Amino acid sequence: MLQQVNGHNPGSDGQAREYLREDLQEFLGGEVLLYKLDDLTRVNPVTLETVLRCLQARYMADTFYTNAGCTLVALNPFKPVPQLYSPELMREYHAAPQPQKLKPHVFTVGEQTYRNVKSLIEPVNQSIVVSGESGAGKTWTSRCLMKFYAVVATSPASWESHKIAERIEQRILNSNPVMEAFGNACTLRNNNSSRFGKFIQLQLNRAQQMTGAAVQTYLLEKTRVACQASSERNFHIFYQICKGASEDERLQWHLPEGAAFSWLPNPERSLEEDCFEVTREAMLHLGIDTPTQNNIFKVLAGLLHLGNIQFAASEDEAQPCQPMDDAKLPREEDWMESDLPKEDLPLPDSVRTAASLLGLPEDVLLEMVQIRTIRAGRQQQVFRKPCARAECDTRRDCLAKLIYARLFDWLVSVINSSICADTDSWTTFIGLLDVYGFESFPDNSLEQLCINYANEKLQQHFVAHYLRAQQEEYAVEGLEWSFINYQDNQPCLDLIEGSPISICSLINEECRLNRPSSAAQLQTRIETALAGSPCLGHNKLSREPSFIVVHYAGPVRYHTAGLVEKNKDPIPPELTRLLQQSQDPLLMGLFPTNPKEKTQEEPPGQSRAPVLTVVSKFKASLEQLLQVLHSTTPHYIRCIKPNSQGQAQTFLQEEVLSQLEACGLVETIHISAAGFPIRVSHRNFVERYKLLRRLHPCTSSGPDSPYPAKGLPEWCPHSEEATLEPLIQDILHTLPVLTQAAAIT
Ligand code: ATP
Ligand code: MG
Repeated sequence: MLQQVNGHNPGSDGQAREYLREDLQEFLGGEVLLYKLDDLTRVNPVTLETVLRCLQARYMADTFYTNAGCTLVALNPFKPVPQLYSPELMREYHAAPQPQKLKPHVFTVGEQTYRNVKSLIEPVNQSIVVSGESGAGKTWTSRCLMKFYAVVATSPASWESHKIAERIEQRILNSNPVMEAFGNACTLRNNNSSRFGKFIQLQLNRAQQMTGAAVQTYLLEKTRVACQASSERNFHIFYQICKGASEDERLQWHLPEGAAFSWLPNPERSLEEDCFEVTREAMLHLGIDTPTQNNIFKVLAGLLHLGNIQFAASEDEAQPCQPMDDAKLPREEDWMESDLPKEDLPLPDSVRTAASLLGLPEDVLLEMVQIRTIRAGRQQQVFRKPCARAECDTRRDCLAKLIYARLFDWLVSVINSSICADTDSWTTFIGLLDVYGFESFPDNSLEQLCINYANEKLQQHFVAHYLRAQQEEYAVEGLEWSFINYQDNQPCLDLIEGSPISICSLINEECRLNRPSSAAQLQTRIETALAGSPCLGHNKLSREPSFIVVHYAGPVRYHTAGLVEKNKDPIPPELTRLLQQSQDPLLMGLFPTNPKEKTQEEPPGQSRAPVLTVVSKFKASLEQLLQVLHSTTPHYIRCIKPNSQGQAQTFLQEEVLSQLEACGLVETIHISAAGFPIRVSHRNFVERYKLLRRLHPCTSSGPDSPYPAKGLPEWCPHSEEATLEPLIQDILHTLPVLTQAAAIT
């Protein structure tokens, strides 16, 4: 059952149309007044151009939040605006009888979500999906919401009784600097880009106090540890250690001042280094004591030294490639001319230092990187094959990625055990989703495919939840409604993940068959098998094998070279075994000798066991996430980046336009503007208001009618006011709606 309010906002009354006319006059009257339009549903006509002009006018007037019906549009100010995020303002939104009547703000969404949790109408879990491209402000917004709940969803009494550091809210906030230090990096598009997806559930008890939180992360970009695009950087934590360690620590971790590390590009760009202390402090509050922290930093220093190990190509295939040390040893040519037999040359410093910091025997470390073991034949005999130089590099990188990814997962689990409430101490949750935005680079690979696949899924969730469901419901209820066209991205999802054949299934099959196939072959397979898809394009001009997916946010060309290998993400078993030999306490914990969980190891020769590929693991975690989201009432915040240079007061229309198009904002506004803002299911409505009939006979409009009668009477003064207080409040708020609902029925 639906109730119509003759207006455009929840909470607005019948005068909304009057406002529309005024606004329209303002709109037509001149650009200057456009900044006054708090809700884009009031712009008339709603077109990309008018929406763009309105957002621009607001941005230039330092107004960064605008409602777009069910969505909040957040423009990145690219400058500090402390007055916009003060605890006083948080409390103001929290205390407001109708926060939606205040200026649009991320706190409005925060507060409405918070009230929904306790609403007697639909006390369900809530989620806030924050989307937008890289650098648009998703992480900032999520952090801002966490701070908001840390202020409003807490009992003031406990502030006095606990030290700040012990408080759960503080611990939850402390998870941010730690996760960002280990999971964020400076990229071309954002100096603090999240290289993982995050879903955090803020857990609330019956009294609506935050009692804990649980974090789930997605697809850390672990390749960054060993490979950074030019002008980009490694994860912040490496720079923090190098800049922030004390003299003593530098000695212990072999990080002399000014040391050059190949995995530490662009160290001169001073961005996050001062944050080392903040990270350490936050770790401490999360229960990671100083010796454990030092152990972590020692291992990370070990990875930096590992990255400095360079191999010289071996002239004899039967001989392993030997390491050289660009700083301490002669260059490669001189090496070749040396009289000493290669095995007698002293080990380069990098090998020795990396091995010592990682608690590994030097020779074993080196050998595992240099030599591949192969099992073959009936008896599974072991053969040792020296690797070529490129393969040595790959194995060295693989070792680093393996350690870093395990360390990151371990950190997340430690954070969770520190902030997660006992199951019986929370009843509902508010989920905050901050995942990497849509990506399109000149060279896109498996990482971008996964990221854009996740964005397609979220867009579909939005479309399904809001656009399609709402319109279909109107049709079922026989309401007068002209259907608004929206872009359904199901065909694109069919192309990526559909059954029986899709891009994912084809890449997975190549992994399973474990056969040598070229990039060109994979391109042909995709083009042939999926030729019927309207979302598959092919760039005939491209010299490299690739395919194009026409995403809802625009076409992206993916290179097929390396896709299959990346999808396998093979971990040579000998490398895992090597790490199991480590004497370092942290690594011993991360790589136990008898691991309970099965690790993703290279499938042995003829094994037919299903290979758990990157894509299939990602798909499973995405499905789980979507399941959780579907079980909640979602709210949406679309972050928009006004320019790609990160400059304040700069609004580049072209750039904003493509973001507006990508998220289908205009369609959303159309539906919100014309739609019914309050939607309560029949069952909930009856549950909620049946009391009215019992308490006051004149509310009944007939013997079997569950609805209140036309013309709701004054509230009965003899009812049980004390216990009914929340109900009374609720009815007072929805009185106009009820009156109209009664009129409809
Ligand atoms: P990515 O997908 O790369 O992680 P993101 O959408 O999470 O990007 P953020 O890191 O949240 O982007 O924002 C980028 C930068 O923009 C921030 O580091 C901050 O400097 C600035 N910024 C974002 N939102 C605000 C805001 N509301 N006020 C001030 N500065 C902001
Ligand atoms: Mg981010």
